[in-house]
Amino acid sequence: MNIILLGPPGAGKGTQAKRLEDSRGMKQISTGDMLRAEVKAQSPIGVEVKALMEKGHFVPDPIIVQMIENRIAQPDCGKGVILDGFPRTESQAEILDSMLKEQGLKIDAVVLLEVSEEALVKRLSERQHEDGSRRADDHPEVIHARLEMYRKQTAPILPYYEQNGRLNRIDGMQDVETVGRAIDAILDRAGS
Ligand code: AMP
Repeated sequence: MNIILLGPPGAGKGTQAKRLEDSRGMKQISTGDMLRAEVKAQSPIGVEVKALMEKGHFVPDPIIVQMIENRIAQPDCGKGVILDGFPRTESQAEILDSMLKEQGLKIDAVVLLEVSEEALVKRLSERQHEDGSRRADDHPEVIHARLEMYRKQTAPILPYYEQNGRLNRIDGMQDVETVGRAIDAILDRAGS
């Protein structure tokens, strides 16, 4: 089963993706994590995207699409994938559907985690890694830029998934376990 976790930055997509990896053997594909690894490794892609990411801007589609295509083809994705942070634009949503179709795959469910903008700002401002470090883009002016990118570029893809009945909305303000149970129920329905 392949699913998309949609929602603004700070909605809890990464947390829920990790939970599904543990419980269902699916693989999280987080374009943000993959890009941060490229930046850390100072690879050619990392060098190209660093400044864009630090400003909260989107990375060009060809880079993202290539990364996704390579990752989905790997054998550990056989039990299905949880797309986290992709697609983020209408063009990425369309590219994804045609990419999967070519490989005889499809998206079984799209889960939208809805969280108020006020709560997102608070969560992102307080977010820290275990070692106390912070993401380079979790700073006030960049947080607002990222939320605006979500509103302007990503939220418009919701009708695309709503039209074909794949969109499931969840109240992401609830605690992690309650959100997790709601996702489980959606996946159980989609898989049966
Ligand atoms: P995330 O960890 O999903 O919040 O992503 C962090 C940053 O990586 C974003 O602010 C973008 O700069 C970049 N990024 C991640 N996924 C995408 C995507 N699908 N399209 C364009 N840029 C992306």
